[in-house]
Formats: sequence, structure tokens, C-alpha cells
Amino acid sequence: MKHVDYIIVGLGIAGVCFAETLLLQGKSFMVVEDGKEGATIASGGVLNPTVLKRFTAAWNASQFFEKVFPFYNAISKRIHFNVSSPIQIHRIFNSIEEQNNWVVASDKKELSPFLNAEIQKNKNTSIIVPFGLGSVNEGVLLNPSGLIKAYRAYLQEHDLLVSETFQYHKLELPEASVSYKGYTAKQLVFCQGAKVRDNLYFKVSVSPEGSKVFVGNKGEYVIFKAPQLQLTDVLKGPVMIIPLGNDLYKVGASYERDDFSEGITRDAREEIISKLKKMISCNFEVVHQVSGIRPTVKDRKPLLGNFLENPQLYFLNGLGTRGLSMAPLLSEWLFQHIENNVALPSEVNIKRFA
Ligand SMILES: Cc1cc2nc3c(=O)[nH]c(=O)nc-3n(C[C@H](O)[C@H](O)[C@H](O)COP(=O)(O)OP(=O)(O)OC[C@H]3O[C@@H](n4cnc5c(N)ncnc54)[C@H](O)[C@@H]3O)c2cc1C
Repeated sequence: MKHVDYIIVGLGIAGVCFAETLLLQGKSFMVVEDGKEGATIASGGVLNPTVLKRFTAAWNASQFFEKVFPFYNAISKRIHFNVSSPIQIHRIFNSIEEQNNWVVASDKKELSPFLNAEIQKNKNTSIIVPFGLGSVNEGVLLNPSGLIKAYRAYLQEHDLLVSETFQYHKLELPEASVSYKGYTAKQLVFCQGAKVRDNLYFKVSVSPEGSKVFVGNKGEYVIFKAPQLQLTDVLKGPVMIIPLGNDLYKVGASYERDDFSEGITRDAREEIISKLKKMISCNFEVVHQVSGIRPTVKDRKPLLGNFLENPQLYFLNGLGTRGLSMAPLLSEWLFQHIENNVALPSEVNIKRFA
């Protein structure tokens, strides 16, 4: 038997950020992951502190964003691969009223660090901008698939990874510890994204009578090539255009609440492309499409912590639509809760549904 402090199940952004937190804190662990593409790999990688539909700040934005850059920088250094960079995010205005609302919003305390009050003029002839642009400060662009691939390679190299689907029937729960195949640990953290729905320990405690706590939300992106577009910033209109380099862009995403089906759909592609045509005037060619399920919860807040029945089994889930910006601080909250008994903020504590 090999003894570690933690077993982690799943290697999306939740698994990566919790593993990184453990490495920073000098704890031992091993990760079990199935190598399948979850929400993180499908995601756009945009860390946006604002809600550009309504001109409001994202929930807890200041606190989450304080941690984002240093944390992802530490990961980049560890794996020798740059995973994040600052990016400008521009919002296309459709009316004078929207311009005015933007200026008013940029004066609010929680938004002033993030919204640039000045209305920007568009200089790019390939995009359709009738009433100017608003710019967001502090945006970050992450390379989610590059991050997962490089972090997995790092864990493999250090013998910290078991590549398989976690088998629940092999999990044993002796008092105050866990045992899984050849490993024992003090605790186990499930970081499974939308697949937590299949987890018996989750089902029994969170939705015993089929109550819909975990709603899920399917999202799709289209990847297109457009040499004339020449866009280096993120552009938000009816959909979001994200530059990937080499004249490639990701555009989307779609939102399909309570849809857990796998795979891409023609409906989502057509909807995204019709919205894209309202934003750009140059030619483009669709080259790819991806999909994923956002792990969303009915009250739109994360699910962190454990249950009384199995106190050694923890969850880091419910990362929803903005998981990439929240995962570093959520991992720290969970770690401090487990190790130092620091109370979790009540709005993220999984016990609110128990
Ligand atoms: C289309 C789309 C666009 C998005 N865009 C953004 C964005 O721009 N910015 C942002 O902040 N957020 C975005 N999100 C949300 C963000 O991607 C999620 O909040 C986040 O990735 C969830 O991470 P996770 O680690 O909880 O889950 P996942 O990334 O799904 O990872 C869970 C992993 O665990 C594995 N796993 C599960 N069960 C087992 C098991 N039994 N054994 C072994 N392995 C297992 C899964 O296969 C998976 O690899 C987007 C999501 C989608 C779908």
C-alpha cells in the first residue's frame, strides 16, 4: 500500500487547481483521471470579471481575480508552458442607450477597476460596430486544452497519475481514511465536473429524491478561419469571438440548460454562425466544432465540502459558467477547510443541499 495525503478524481480545471494547491502546500497526492475531454477542454478560456450582457460585475470578481494571475503563472513555471496571458475584451454597443449604461456602470465601485469608461472607436473594417466599443480591463486568456495536456504530462512524469475511470466499488472507507486499489489517503476529493451526477456518494446526499440540484448546461463552440479578420482581442457581441492565433478563432458559446447529451449539434452551429454574421463582414471558413457540459447548479454557486455520512470524501464542483477564474480560490478555500477547519463561505458549502 502506498500512502498519500489526498486522492483526486478528475483532471479538469478543478482537479488541476486542487493538485497545484497541494503541491504549493507540500502535500502528497495521486490523481485518477479517465483522459476524457470535459468542460475545461471545450471552454473558451476567457477569464472575464464582468457580465457583459448586463454590465455588472461577476460574482465575487475582485476576490477571484486577485488570485488568478499569480496562480496560473505559478502553474506555467512548474510545467514550463505558458498557460495564461492578459487580454483586452471589447463589448460591441448597439445603441446610444447602451453606451450611456456602460459609462454609468463604469463609475460603480465594484466595476470601476474593470470597465474602461471611454467609448472606443473601431478601426477594424472586418467587424460590424455601429455604436463603438467598451473595453474591459483585467481580462485573462487561458489555454485550457494546452494546460490540461501539459499538467497531465507533468503528473505522469512525477508518477502522480493513474489513467483510468475511477471505480467506485474499489473504494473502501475505513474510519478517517480512504483506500483505493494500492493507495491509502486521509481524504479523497472528487473533481468530476458534470460526471458527478453518476457519483453514488453525491446522488445519495445531494439529490435523494431526484431533486434537481445539479442542472448542467451544454455549450458548443465553432472554430473558424478568417485571414482578413486580423483580431487580436476578444470581441463580445451576440456571441464571443476568441483569437487562437494563425487566423483561427473560436466563436460561441451556446447555452442549453439541463442538456447532458454528448457531441456537437447542427442547431448550435447554425445559431452561432448566424450570430457571428452579425459581428463580422469578412469571409470565413468553419474548421471545427466542440462541445462540453458546464457543471452548473440550480442556485449558480459552486459545490464545495463534504457530508456527515462520509466526512473523508470531499467535492470540488459546481464551477458553472466561470470555472476557470474561480478554481484557484475555490481550491484554496477547500484546502483551508480540510486542513485548518476554516469555515467555507455558506453560499458555496455543499451542505446547503444536504
Ligand atoms: C462550451 C463551454 C465554454 C466555456 N467557457 C468558459 C470560459 O470562457 N471561461 C470560464 O471561466 N469558464 C468557461 N466554461 C466553464 C468551465 O469550462 C467549467 O466551469 C470548468 O471547466 C469545470 O471544470 P471541472 O474541472 O469541474 O470539470 P471538467 O473540466 O469537466 O473536468 C472533469 C474531469 O473529470 C473526469 N472524470 C469524471 N468522472 C471521472 C471518473 N469516474 N474517473 C476518472 N475521471 C473522471 C472527466 O472525464 C473530466 O476530464 C465553459 C464551459 C463550456 C462547456
